[in-house]
Amino acid sequence: MERITIKDKTFAINIPESRIQERIVQMAKEINADMKGKSPVFLCVLNGAFLFAADVFKNLDVECEITFLRVSSYEGTSSTGTVKNLVGVSASLKDRTVVILEDIVDTGDTAVYLLQEIEKHGPKEIRFASLLFKPKALRHEVKLDYVGFEVPNDFLVGYGLDYDGLGRNLRDIYKLAE
Ligand code: 5GP
Ligand code: MG
Repeated sequence: MERITIKDKTFAINIPESRIQERIVQMAKEINADMKGKSPVFLCVLNGAFLFAADVFKNLDVECEITFLRVSSYEGTSSTGTVKNLVGVSASLKDRTVVILEDIVDTGDTAVYLLQEIEKHGPKEIRFASLLFKPKALRHEVKLDYVGFEVPNDFLVGYGLDYDGLGRNLRDIYKLAE
């Protein structure tokens, strides 16, 4: 489908499923190479990263764990600029190699907050993987170790990303059409 409508908004296809899957295989190869012998814990940031995390995870061939946490900073199509609490860090991260799996880094507020909070658990090292990255929106210095796609400042939906809770099931990534 080239165009879709969710509620009051129309979205046009931006990154097709085949490109997403191809890129994730490449990212997983890089992660596999870097994580050999480290027995990392992957942290999937819910809700948006659940499909990305699943697809990365299926392509890992190193000994690894995954756990799920939640932090949310978005309402509608613009950032509220406020991040809420981090919930769900259950695995012990002390002295572990941690790889955060995020759907998208926009302003970087969430990334900075996540890194701060995870740091408190005393990990050995933290790596950050994001499927999508909006470099023009970034307002912090954050080191992203693995990035799937750099994208412009459009509002995106699909493949885990939602518009008011909808559209996460789409296999492709769409952007808000003018
Ligand atoms: P940041 O804190 O970097 O500004 O935003 C990060 C969070 O905002 C992401 O984890 C995601 O949930 C949400 N977000 C940022 N850009 C988009 C977008 O284009 N579409 C959707 N659906 N969510 C976004
Ligand atoms: Mg997210």
